Amino acid sequence: MQIPYHKPYWTGMELEYIEDALRRQVSGNGYYTGMAAEIVREMTGACRVLPTTSGTHALEMAVMLCGLQEGDEVILPSFTFPSTANAVILRGARPVFAEINDTTLTLDPGDVGRRITGRTRAIIPVHYGGIGCDMEGIMELARCHNLYVIEDAAQAVDARYRGKPLGTWGHLGCFSFHGTKNHTSGEGGALLINTSDRSWFEEAEIIWEKGTDRAKFLRGEKSFYTWVGPGSNYTPSEVLMAMLCAQLRERDLIREQRRLIHEYYESGLAEYRRKGLLQMTEIPSHCQSNYHIFYLLLPSPEAREEARRGLIRRGISALSHFVPLHSSPMGQKLGLDREELPVTERVSRCILRLPLYAGMTGEESLYVLENLRDVLEQVL
Ligand SMILES: *Cc1c(COP(=O)(O)O)cnc(C)c1O
Repeated sequence: MQIPYHKPYWTGMELEYIEDALRRQVSGNGYYTGMAAEIVREMTGACRVLPTTSGTHALEMAVMLCGLQEGDEVILPSFTFPSTANAVILRGARPVFAEINDTTLTLDPGDVGRRITGRTRAIIPVHYGGIGCDMEGIMELARCHNLYVIEDAAQAVDARYRGKPLGTWGHLGCFSFHGTKNHTSGEGGALLINTSDRSWFEEAEIIWEKGTDRAKFLRGEKSFYTWVGPGSNYTPSEVLMAMLCAQLRERDLIREQRRLIHEYYESGLAEYRRKGLLQMTEIPSHCQSNYHIFYLLLPSPEAREEARRGLIRRGISALSHFVPLHSSPMGQKLGLDREELPVTERVSRCILRLPLYAGMTGEESLYVLENLRDVLEQVL
């Protein structure tokens, strides 16, 4: 049997929505973009939502909105996807990497605090695998030091921390709807604006619509539109937003299916954890996960590689991401590899992510678990 790491889940409504979009409008900022924004607003309670062409672009917009520029410092984990740091360096600002904790693999506020300087302007926590970072700790630091908080909630759509949706704790939140995420438009994302201050929203709309006030024009607030500020084109096609609406409407079903597989893995591997042989995804009681990732932390890098190769040989795609950014080729080029981040290093060398997707059959999850047990018997 061949088990991919991820498979998109089709609700069966995508084509119908897409066909309707083709009859209406295919370029951006139309009916389905409005509907997607409304669904995300309803599910999160964010003040404003702008659907974007990707999660990466939502991060770029967020960094622009905070007015970050050359010389500014932004604190973020090294254990993240390159987009989190790219958004910062594209504005000429400097990423400062902080350590993660080894239970949720999210930013450690204590270590963030130690790295704050007079130049720090923002913190970007990443909610790894849909489990929230310590947002009370992060927001407290931000209040004390007058910093912006941009949540990289790319993996945390439909997840909560202390009952409050992730993506709505910081000033700005960024979602991703990439093909590998829980809900997808192939490529896509959303920017969540968590302030009722209208000027933030207006500036965001200008950045989103190529530096123009076209959004106001489309709402009938202006009789023409023109160039009013810096911006780019971050508006997704209506075709993609139609697809996304179909996906988001089934979010309860998608989360439930993922939860069942997550819990099946968890109970099937519990004895290894009990014996102290490995660590695995832990959802703290104050976090509501969207079950984006189920990972194991093996006792050594060698054990991880042996287990990963064993699973690949049996047709099971297991992944080892993220590679830390500070020691990556780009991190070295920027001179960011002098940081000491022992937890990040250990986690990235020992992590193994198991296949997990909505629509995974009982036969598939059984195949993964049985083969994994076999492999672990040899490795541990
Ligand atoms: C997926 C992801 C991104 C990028 O999102 P795209 O929609 O692929 O641009 C950014 N940060 C994290 C943590 C991600 O997992």
